Amino acid sequence: MRLENKVAIVTGGGSGIGQAIAILFAKEGAKVVVAGRRLEALQSTVTEIEKSGGEALAVTADVSSFSSVHNLIQKTLEKFGKIDILVNNAGIYLPGDAVSTTEEDWDKVLAIDAKGTFLCSKAALPSMLKQGKGKIVNIASIAGWVGFEGSTAYCAAKGAVVNLTREMALDYGPKNININAIAPGIIETDMTQGFLQDENAKKSFLAKTPMGRIGKPLDIAYAALYLASDESDFVAGEILVVDGGWTAR
Ligand code: NAD
Repeated sequence: MRLENKVAIVTGGGSGIGQAIAILFAKEGAKVVVAGRRLEALQSTVTEIEKSGGEALAVTADVSSFSSVHNLIQKTLEKFGKIDILVNNAGIYLPGDAVSTTEEDWDKVLAIDAKGTFLCSKAALPSMLKQGKGKIVNIASIAGWVGFEGSTAYCAAKGAVVNLTREMALDYGPKNININAIAPGIIETDMTQGFLQDENAKKSFLAKTPMGRIGKPLDIAYAALYLASDESDFVAGEILVVDGGWTAR
């Protein structure tokens, strides 16, 4: 198993991409802390993991609040004694161009998608530094790599995650902590449900995707598994694009 004896925290683990990552990590031997805002959703991921013989813990946490994130780290250390892997996956999308995006929406998206990634990393790093090894995987987006019309706050937040990843990789690479990101294309989850129900929008996504399909949460989970495992020990500050070829042109 590729994550045997590892302890992983996955934020936003109650649904979509985070849930797929949590379940795959557990299958590969990790003990998984499934963190997020909705206990019922987190618990369903934990139940799924336990059904196949894995070990997991649900912890409610709001990644935009440092006290909440601090509590998440404490609960993880109390239960499992260490943190080997942090997946900063929690995120929200709110539509709007620069004129229509409200200040409140901007603050909300930046607080969860960008500041949340910073806060969880800040809180988990001391424990990784103490053990002299660690892996952080940030879930960015191709919207942080290229522009996406009508997505001002989201593009800004994910762009911040992309360069925060590179910056933290420089600071913590010398301490044997690998910090990388994944930039998913369009993946079928609650976040994209609205777009994907619109036939025209779906057609336009497919037209831009050489692989000719919408991505699945597991497509991202496999990339996260690589970046969380010892196989990626020489990879740092990398933004692994998993988008069916969308940004290849
Ligand atoms: P999702 O809505 O199913 O997952 C997002 C999760 O984050 C939810 O479980 C939600 O409860 C949690 N969350 C939101 N705010 C939180 C907070 N303040 N504290 C803790 N948890 C919080 O959607 P998803 O598509 O699985 O998204 C997962 C990640 O992937 C997000 O960062 C998203 O931006 C990114 N992403 C998604 C796509 C896509 O096409 N679906 C593409 C690129 C990037």
